[in-house]
Amino acid sequence: MSAGLPEVDSALLQKRIDELALITEAQPPVVTRVLFSDADLRGRDYIRKLCEEAGLSVRIDAVGNMFARWKGSAPDAPAVATGSHTDAIPNAGKFDGVVGVLGGLAAIEALQDAGFKPMRSIELIVFTAEEPTRFGIGCLGSRMLAGAIPPEKVAALRDPEGASLDGLRGRAGLKDALESVVLPKKFYSAFVELHIEQGPLLEQQHIPIGIVQAIAGPSAYRVRITGEGGHAGAVLMPGRRDASLAASELALAVERAAHQSGSPDTVATTGKWEVFPNAINSVPCDVMLEIDLRDTCLETRDRALLLMRSASDDIATRRGVTIVWEEINADPPADGDPRTMEIAEDVALKLDLATARMVSRAYHDSLFMARVCPTTMIFIPCRNGYSHRPEEYSDPAHIAAGARVLAGTLARLSHEPP
Ligand SMILES: [Zn+2]
Repeated sequence: MSAGLPEVDSALLQKRIDELALITEAQPPVVTRVLFSDADLRGRDYIRKLCEEAGLSVRIDAVGNMFARWKGSAPDAPAVATGSHTDAIPNAGKFDGVVGVLGGLAAIEALQDAGFKPMRSIELIVFTAEEPTRFGIGCLGSRMLAGAIPPEKVAALRDPEGASLDGLRGRAGLKDALESVVLPKKFYSAFVELHIEQGPLLEQQHIPIGIVQAIAGPSAYRVRITGEGGHAGAVLMPGRRDASLAASELALAVERAAHQSGSPDTVATTGKWEVFPNAINSVPCDVMLEIDLRDTCLETRDRALLLMRSASDDIATRRGVTIVWEEINADPPADGDPRTMEIAEDVALKLDLATARMVSRAYHDSLFMARVCPTTMIFIPCRNGYSHRPEEYSDPAHIAAGARVLAGTLARLSHEPP
């Protein structure tokens, strides 16, 4: 122990990160672990075994969220939690989510090795499907824990191949009612998630630890544009109702709306296009767009959406097409808990690690855990801000430092009086 704070076994943590990275649907070093795939399930088993070896008692809920508890001397007091996810989008790297899960476990083991005695129990959570890959909805596990999605909506989810979530979870041995996933009130006293930044700021500023004071609220929309098709040679320009041109105008309006929202934190992206029939000699008659809109402030996000919708109405009228909007999700932003942030900052200070408060522009399970209990996140630098790609990289020293700050923070929170 130095500065009264436990040491993290950095070599062991790296070894585990590397081992988990080999459990993938893709060719290593590419990591792909989509919800309920063989790799996803084997990855969870790997974590479960480590948790059991560390003497933690493991519970798995009806949607596959895993809870590994280190029982404290006040087992009935709300517990302190940490954790993240191990699912990975196709063609991803090995650190997103994993640093928070294996780093969380390393923090707990560091406290055990240092002889720490928890008062509030300390729990490591591995959330189901933080990534929206399979069912189009992100943070599925934490969303359900927070009661932010009706269980019947979850039961009705189907993947693009038509497989139902209910069927897939059943095959994974998860049989309990989905209603049982939501957490009782005051289940946790605090939640702290360790995560790579997924942006370049910490690296650029040579700051090892970011403390998250706000998480941008994501929203997503599916927009169907229907015009009229025809032969690209035969249909003359004046008579056309080209769905793809209407979509193009709409995408530009989406960009304009983000600029005009009044906040620099508003970001909007038209990232997905499906054009039908998608042939060079055919006037596009149908386009499906997916639009991602995020902001740390709900008011400016709503303003941007309003601008988009009014531009959409105008385009539909002018171009003689129909445009139908469907909301995929619209989640409010979350604020970091001031006291939890201060504790993490104080721990970092004692470890001689510089900190900066920051905004998380990507969403995380913490977005929903913030509805359950006071929450913050600890960010560590990642090279060039790369994430969601195989080149994702964080320095082992940064990962160990993040896990140490987490360990110290969990220790302090565990001894917070009721
Ligand atoms: Zn993540």
